[in-house]
Amino acid sequence: MTANKAGIEWVWVDLDDTLWDFTTNSRNALGQLYHAENLARFFPSIDDWIRKYLECNHSLWTLYNAGEITKEHLQTERFRQVLANAGYSNEGLTDLCHHLDKEYLGRLGQLSLLVPGAREMLIYLRSKGYKIGIISNGFYEVQYNKLRSSDIEHLIDVVVLSDDIGINKPDRRIFDHALLKASTTAKRCVIIGDNPETDIAGGIAAGWHAIYFNRDNTNTLPTPEGATLITNLNEISRIL
Ligand SMILES: [Mg+2]
Repeated sequence: MTANKAGIEWVWVDLDDTLWDFTTNSRNALGQLYHAENLARFFPSIDDWIRKYLECNHSLWTLYNAGEITKEHLQTERFRQVLANAGYSNEGLTDLCHHLDKEYLGRLGQLSLLVPGAREMLIYLRSKGYKIGIISNGFYEVQYNKLRSSDIEHLIDVVVLSDDIGINKPDRRIFDHALLKASTTAKRCVIIGDNPETDIAGGIAAGWHAIYFNRDNTNTLPTPEGATLITNLNEISRIL
């Protein structure tokens, strides 16, 4: 369903790369990790480390969003595969992976950069009387830290994480779970998100309105049918 003001009460927003600048913040956390953990042992440069990690992480997240692997598998494998490919075959590899994941998520949760216009959009939506929810596939132990470190927690009414129920977007059950938690109905909800599959196609399949945020038009994937396209968060004020 395309979004319009009529009847909408709840605005649900994806967190990573819709509000909180995951792309930039994760690069910074990975750079910190490179120095703190002496990853120069395995990778000749920060860029080499980050590129290899991101490739591996992206493939694993595609499987995780589809419910094909567990969170624990993803958290270990994203480091194990990259280190193994770099020639690290020590029997302590699994322990090192657990350590790196904990360090990485700890550092990530301290970072605060928001997508341009994110805070202003939340303040605007509140001023118009909308309720605001977060709906995210991110991990419990880091998503709340992101909201706190970027100082937007007080602008959010409800947080729904896939971690809470073990079901990821685009599975319709997480959208239905959000409706229950907010005591509302699909027609009264709109989702704003940067992922055309998980956020937008998922939301539309659940009967929600949907606004696809293709930041600066950088994603070459087409806008899903039925969604409203924005390329900058400040466009929200002409829709809601
Ligand atoms: Mg996202």
